[in-house]
Amino acid sequence: VNMVQLHNVTKAYVNQLALSDINLEVKKGEFLFVTGASGSGKSTLLKMLYGEELPTQGEVTVDECNVAQMRGDALSLLRRRIGIVFQDYKLIQQRTVAENVTVVLEAQGYTRKEILRRLEPTLKLVGLRDKANCFPGQLSGGEQQRVGIARAIVSTPPLILADEPTGNLDPDNSWQIIQIFRKLNAFGATVIITTHDEQLVRRCNHRVVQVCNGKLLTKNI
Ligand code: ADP
Ligand code: ADP
Repeated sequence: VNMVQLHNVTKAYVNQLALSDINLEVKKGEFLFVTGASGSGKSTLLKMLYGEELPTQGEVTVDECNVAQMRGDALSLLRRRIGIVFQDYKLIQQRTVAENVTVVLEAQGYTRKEILRRLEPTLKLVGLRDKANCFPGQLSGGEQQRVGIARAIVSTPPLILADEPTGNLDPDNSWQIIQIFRKLNAFGATVIITTHDEQLVRRCNHRVVQVCNGKLLTKNI
């Protein structure tokens, strides 16, 4: 069963063809790396999966929903089933780690009890139980990214998308972050990660596709 399917997808920005006639299937439970040079279209590919960009042509299907046809509440519900991790973490500086992680659950109307029930194991999984009351500015880059991951996974989404999650981190921290994604994948999540870090990709035994000149190439690692 596919979690993600792109069928003959082309994405053109005003003066820029980003992706050209792409086909891709990602099965439920898969772990996929998307590699490619900066500007090759990796972010664009992920953005189409959560409806941030629409394909110019072709069909993007996520968890059996045609993303381009989803509006308003339906799109919100689909997005709740996707955990998104960004290169620059996108944390709220004036909120603690715990608050950053639970802000989404509060917005979604979870009860206080349910929020606390989820917070503890999530912080434990990313190794931040003792940092719950710290502010982002008090954390290292690797720790901040682990907050970003905790926020993305606290509602246990079946699909996790990460756009250059290790782009601002040194090799040790990058490796730790990848290990967290691999653990989530082992628990059953489908994981798609973009990266231009070829070394990191080679250290793992996961499927890799490369975006090159708007096309998708399958890579043998
Ligand atoms: P990557 O994530 O691989 O760095 P992107 O998907 O961000 O690549 O960008 C692919 C191409 O599309 C680049 O040439 C980029 O400049 C262009 N692009 C990205 N977003 C926009 C936008 N909103 N408007 C116009 N061009 C864009
Ligand atoms: P698998 O994909 O079967 O789970 P492993 O987790 O054992 O494989 O590791 C995949 C690759 O990453 C192997 O080449 C392994 O040597 C390397 N690797 C695993 N853990 C580390 C680590 N902590 N430091 C450096 N390399 C590692």
